Amino acid sequence: MSVKEFDVLIVGGGLSGLRAGLELSKKWKVALVSKVVPIRSHSGAAQGGINAALGNHPEGKEDTPEKHAFDTIKGSDYLADQDVVMFMTKEAPKIVVEFESMGAPFSRFENGKIAQRPFGGAGSPRTCYAADRTGHALLHTLYEQCIRQGVDFYDEFFLIDLISVYNTVTGALTLDLTTGELVTFRTPYVILATGGFGRIFTASTNAIICTGDGVGAAFRVGVPMQDCEFIQFHPTCLYGSGILMSEGARGEGGLLFNNKKERFMLKIAPEAKELAPRDIIARAITTEINEGRGFEDAYVHLDLTHLGAERIKERLPGIRDIAIDFAGVDSIEKPIPVHAGHHYSMGGIGTKFDGDYCETSLDGLWAVGENAAVSVHGANRLGGNSLLETAVFGRYIGRKMLERGLPSRPSLDKIIAAEKATLDNIEGLFKRWESNSGKKAVEIREAMGETLSRNVFVFRKESELQQAVNDMKNFQKDFENVSLTNISSPAARKFNYGLVRTLELRNMIDIAEVTAFASLWRKESRGAHYRTDYPTRKDEDYLVHSMVIRNNSGDLEMHTKPVKLGIFEPKPREY
Ligand SMILES: Cc1cc2nc3c(=O)[nH]c(=O)nc-3n(C[C@H](O)[C@H](O)[C@H](O)COP(=O)(O)OP(=O)(O)OC[C@H]3O[C@@H](n4cnc5c(N)ncnc54)[C@H](O)[C@@H]3O)c2cc1C
Repeated sequence: MSVKEFDVLIVGGGLSGLRAGLELSKKWKVALVSKVVPIRSHSGAAQGGINAALGNHPEGKEDTPEKHAFDTIKGSDYLADQDVVMFMTKEAPKIVVEFESMGAPFSRFENGKIAQRPFGGAGSPRTCYAADRTGHALLHTLYEQCIRQGVDFYDEFFLIDLISVYNTVTGALTLDLTTGELVTFRTPYVILATGGFGRIFTASTNAIICTGDGVGAAFRVGVPMQDCEFIQFHPTCLYGSGILMSEGARGEGGLLFNNKKERFMLKIAPEAKELAPRDIIARAITTEINEGRGFEDAYVHLDLTHLGAERIKERLPGIRDIAIDFAGVDSIEKPIPVHAGHHYSMGGIGTKFDGDYCETSLDGLWAVGENAAVSVHGANRLGGNSLLETAVFGRYIGRKMLERGLPSRPSLDKIIAAEKATLDNIEGLFKRWESNSGKKAVEIREAMGETLSRNVFVFRKESELQQAVNDMKNFQKDFENVSLTNISSPAARKFNYGLVRTLELRNMIDIAEVTAFASLWRKESRGAHYRTDYPTRKDEDYLVHSMVIRNNSGDLEMHTKPVKLGIFEPKPREY
């Protein structure tokens, strides 16, 4: 095993990891590991755009960061922490201008200003975009800047476990997928930026690599998981493949129809209509289908035909291509078949109540981007706020760490002992997997996805959630006996995707179990978490963040953390 020493290790080459890397590499030696080449990170799939109150749109001239904050907090069903939201929305215009100055090719209005489009739950059109390929544009821009500045990239390195001494992180154990070697990074700071965990569901808009590896690693060293019951189901996923049809399509004027040719959103959200927040539209679409007003009992129509060929080709070219390739539908001529599907994880690695934003309860360990619950999205994220979050808090972490300087560390002999214990544990695990005779990872993973997709979906209730919790315990048992052949030598571990999938499942099972557990615990409806048996929001009991840990007996345990309220008082959400 080799050991590499750096000032900071960043795990994840998506927008959040890259933005932190860019800042930190101004002064420090930065290693950035990513299980895929960074520009293949899921950030590159983002379509619709990034929010900032620039006031460039003719109908949004009066827009301000405060209005952006209000929309975000109302959208979150008042579960977002208001201080951190205000920080994000104030930074937003600066972050977009910074991207522009680095060369990001934003779409523009005729007067040359960055173009903005309306998005769900937003009082003003404030979503800046690069056609419908915004994530691709931003990811390439940041990657180029990191290369220019000399960030040390370790592509195709897989984070297995964090290494810690008492309550301080001292590095991480990784697998070099290209050589099959186990490699330890020894660093006083580790930043987890490993993205979402949508693949715990059978179908998701998330890339196949979104398996919650950072989340699992943090959970195993005792960091609580925050707000994991809040899963975003995107209203418009393409029927057949589940691929995302961006909210930008409705932002540009796309309309939703049921099989009676009714625009059902007019009843549900008379003001915002098709641009109500995602939780509300996802429930409306699922209800139309459940009550027999869908097509083939499976989807409704997203109609863009009235926008005209020119506008679709200019603003929504990616959506059009995907619908043609995967559903045989040209959106210029016909409506697109869509239904609600898994899209985003509002919860994730818990952050401290009193620390700096993104800091976790393990000293030296920070989390940013979709794998973190920094709590800007609360119970429901607004479209366009996630790309924003990655860059704002990536830069923030970089600045904070440089300001604090390198921390004092445990003695070297303790660090070495912890590294050896982590390595021995993994070698022991690999041996056990080889000698086990149980199921293969893929079987457990499929069963787990089905359970979640059936019992922890758009509409939830006690009996189904309890079923999911029971099933998860069984999947954990199955996983203890998971079997895998041919992983004993580095040569056998080289590009061994059986091994990678099993390591991923180790993380997915934990986060899936936490998701079911927290959903059963929260006996109210808030944002994306809708309980048919408890259909109202109950601020008296549940205006708190859920924080789940695994106790010494191996059981999950629920704790809570107060929500940071502020100038926006919790009110019923009307759109
Ligand atoms: C289809 C789609 C469209 C979207 N559109 C929008 C949009 O228009 N606007 C918006 O605001 N948001 C959008 N989102 C959400 C947003 O794109 C993501 O939340 C955000 O980009 C996540 O960035 P990230 O840096 O946290 O993680 P990611 O970009 O997912 O990157 C994760 C990184 O972690 C690495 N990694 C993971 N596990 C390991 C491991 N074990 N070892 C080493 N490395 C690891 C990966 O290699 C990758 O580099 C969209 C999401 C999807 C799925």
